[in-house]
Amino acid sequence: MRAYTAGDTDVPLLEETIGTNFERMVARFPFHDALIEAAAVPGADARRWSYTKMNDDVDRLARALLALGVAKGDRVGIWSPNCAEWTLLQYATAKAGAILVNVNPAYRSHELEFVVKQNGMRLLVTAPSDRTSDYVGMARQALAECADLRELVFLPDSGVDGLDAGVPANEAELTYAELLKGADAVAHSGLNARMAELDPHDPVNLQYTSGTTGFPKGATLTHHNILNNGYSIGELLGYTEHDRVVIPVPFYHCFGMVIGNLAALSHGAATIIPGRGFSPAAALEAVQDFGGTSLYGVPTMFIAELALPDFASYDLATLRTGVMAGSVCPVEVMNRVISEMHMVDVAICYGMTETSPVSTMTRNGDTLQQRTETVGRTMPRLESQVMDPGSGEVLERGRIGELCTRGYAVMQGYWDQPDKTAEAIDADGWMHTGDLARMDDGGYVVIEGRIKDMVIRGGENIYPREIEEFLYSHPSIQDVQVIGVPDAKYGEELMACVILRPGAEPLDAAAVAEFCRGKLAHFKIPRYVDVRESFPMTVSGKIRKVEMREEAVARLGL
Ligand code: AMP
Repeated sequence: MRAYTAGDTDVPLLEETIGTNFERMVARFPFHDALIEAAAVPGADARRWSYTKMNDDVDRLARALLALGVAKGDRVGIWSPNCAEWTLLQYATAKAGAILVNVNPAYRSHELEFVVKQNGMRLLVTAPSDRTSDYVGMARQALAECADLRELVFLPDSGVDGLDAGVPANEAELTYAELLKGADAVAHSGLNARMAELDPHDPVNLQYTSGTTGFPKGATLTHHNILNNGYSIGELLGYTEHDRVVIPVPFYHCFGMVIGNLAALSHGAATIIPGRGFSPAAALEAVQDFGGTSLYGVPTMFIAELALPDFASYDLATLRTGVMAGSVCPVEVMNRVISEMHMVDVAICYGMTETSPVSTMTRNGDTLQQRTETVGRTMPRLESQVMDPGSGEVLERGRIGELCTRGYAVMQGYWDQPDKTAEAIDADGWMHTGDLARMDDGGYVVIEGRIKDMVIRGGENIYPREIEEFLYSHPSIQDVQVIGVPDAKYGEELMACVILRPGAEPLDAAAVAEFCRGKLAHFKIPRYVDVRESFPMTVSGKIRKVEMREEAVARLGL
């Protein structure tokens, strides 16, 4: 059987803009909660928006953007940790026909200026400076350096007018309150006229992907891309107007703004912001205080929540579902999330920014094994296939190759980089994810690593993860990473980088080869073994194989 699946067609594709979809929800659920931001300080009140109030505030913000002269297709940036204004701006830019540019709050001046210049950003909404980031100072520097950037808007630091953080120095700088005042100059009919000009296939969002090499690229996403992806996710999670979705993951990434905001708000559900950044206690408090029915996170966030010393004291009985994504979830963690956090229907989502993001997902009722070993099956109205990275042939089920996605969720392209777009999306419309995967007989997809980590030795494709899993069974090996290093004869050779168990016997290449003999094909037996104390890691806990390879090349003089 070929490793190809087309998703179900039971979820309709919406043919409307994000603004129109939201107004339909406002009409159906006017007094339901749409947006709640937990208080940052104990004892203070949460900030709350019903669908009607949120729509009023979104419209006011959209009219304010029109009053400044923001035209259809203009890029409007947001550079802020999570806050209610982030969501309001997401919907206001969608209604105003602007393209929201998500700027990573961890960026510093060099990265900010790169992104502002790359898309010719016209206006940047900036967080107040905090202990770790001088947002105001860096934004002012970008204003001076970037020709297209015309205005900065400083978000309030408390939601209370008059306490604005940035004191405007000139007419290119506005506080959020001043921006909103400008809305009076544009009538509602002006905003309605703008909305009538919009097409669901217009771009609405630019998200810069981290990319392991080179500069970040701006994935250009349309209303159609992200609204439908969010809507499908909400359908599969069974969202209704009674759901209350707790979102501790960042809005600048699609996990927050699509899997979170769009999935919930296209179903009349409430979005709940526990805080600006992730705090395990704040996430659980938000579930308890606001009756969360769904909780999101990457696996390490759930691990941190379960590890809280007072974990058992939180009332999490309202939870029923949630989303885990970003990396593989250990089975032990999944077990506890289901039994101790009551998230019986927690789903695994897999995807990437370029596919809006979710392309495969587990379904309610899937087994524990499916939710820990696979990333589910193809989303409704999308297609997945596993292709041989060399020949481009579609592989048989069970074989490892590059996972590719096709359909409505594939981005329009990388902003102003047609060459990079052509490298990522082939002539048949398949987005090449760069992830290695295999598909089982039921159409469930197992992620096996990144294609860049694949080693080609003498024409054989070798998948490090397979060898790593085998070497884990060696009694002396605590942790292992397998990489490819250059070789004159074979092109590449394998190196196993190992961390030994405390007190274990020393290990060399001959001993490892002896252990593998008869159990692994000869070409999969590592030529080199490098015993080390630790592996280089990124801040997010991903192992830096590229760095390990460079070190090995230098050390071995290859
Ligand atoms: P980003 O574009 O930043 O969302 O990163 C996308 C990448 O994250 C994918 O190409 C995968 O390598 C990885 N990823 C996303 N979701 C999962 C998941 N559920 N399991 C394993 N890896 C994942």
